[in-house]
Amino acid sequence: GSVLDAATVRRDFPILAETIHGRPLIWLDNAATTQKPQSVIDRLSTFYTHENSNIHRAAHTLAARATDAYEAAREKVRRFLGASSVDEIVFVRGATEAINLVAQTWGSATLRAGDEIVVTELEHHANIVPWKRLADAVGAVLRVVPVDDSGQVRLDIYRALLGPRTRLVAMTQVSNALGTVVPVAEMTALAHRVGARVLVDGAQAVSHMAVDVREIKCDWYVFSGHKVFGPTGIGVLYGTGDVLEAMAPWQSGGNMIADVTFERIVYQAPPARFEAGTGNIADAVGLGAALDYVEALGMDAIARHEHGLLDYGTALLRAIPGLRLIGTASDKAGVLSFVFDDIPPLEVGRALDREGIAVRAGHHCAQPILRRFGLEATVRPSLALYNSPSDLDALAAALRRLRVGQPAPAP
Ligand code: PMP
Repeated sequence: GSVLDAATVRRDFPILAETIHGRPLIWLDNAATTQKPQSVIDRLSTFYTHENSNIHRAAHTLAARATDAYEAAREKVRRFLGASSVDEIVFVRGATEAINLVAQTWGSATLRAGDEIVVTELEHHANIVPWKRLADAVGAVLRVVPVDDSGQVRLDIYRALLGPRTRLVAMTQVSNALGTVVPVAEMTALAHRVGARVLVDGAQAVSHMAVDVREIKCDWYVFSGHKVFGPTGIGVLYGTGDVLEAMAPWQSGGNMIADVTFERIVYQAPPARFEAGTGNIADAVGLGAALDYVEALGMDAIARHEHGLLDYGTALLRAIPGLRLIGTASDKAGVLSFVFDDIPPLEVGRALDREGIAVRAGHHCAQPILRRFGLEATVRPSLALYNSPSDLDALAAALRRLRVGQPAPAP
């Protein structure tokens, strides 16, 4: 297969030419958000310069352009996820909104006292809190699949947790805190065997690996555009046709209506049913451009490049005295989480920033999984297609200096 040339790819991302404290920016905070290629920035500009209009309503040329661009983006998302129809692709604000939508429509209509929702110990708060609130509201029970010491889910315990009261399994495909790749297809099949529905949180997966929802066979799949080189404020809820068709609307108002009288309301079919009001048209179009960008490089080439980086970075970090890697599962993507035995994570993050290296230090909105490892915070360098071994060399060199209290050389 094709090989990715990180140096060439880097030049597509103008922000990577920034200097921070006099040093070239090294962006290793990709799990928080990714940088945008020039093609995405240009696409937004083109939209506002040549196409801007509200969609669907008006019988004029710009409305047609905007509608065509928006619906073309939906088709790009369909292809990117391997969905069978564009009607299965709902534009939302992000992964968080998509999960809340499902919890508040399907969830509140379906769950009853004593029903069970299964989540994994790896989940981001976005895939815990909506379910916990729903469970508390209806008297349902949240059950948690623990992980082993490597940070991989305990499939044996998962099997035992599933039962006739399980209505939903909500799980991440890739952990944002540890990088664990969860066997979501296998877990989905097991959930379906007991009649439960499955939501997969793809927020940390889509930028790192090829995703095919028809292989996973999940009922819903969610992701955020900004984590896959697209704009903020746009994301995707995928749902299978029959599942979306059976769901009541969430927000209501314009655009999601087939017919309104003061006596009776008829809703549109999905996806329009779930896109009330004027949506984020330009950023949906920008997301389409981002997906074009990664597909041109090839998700498999991206995955190979990042696996190489992950192995390289893992070896570098392992060789640093006093550093403990958190998350050592055999199947990982994108994330290298660690702590020092004697330097607090925030201090590490600030020291790296002084050398132009951006990493997240904190709880990563995934407190339960960090506490599973006895921690409140880690340092979390995270990778994307434009990172190179030299970024990781710089990281490791800075960490070694910090460790022995040696100042960074002048920029
Ligand atoms: N799930 C996971 C695994 C995430 O990493 C994130 C973002 N950190 C989210 C959900 C929420 O995404 P957003 O904030 O874009 O809605």
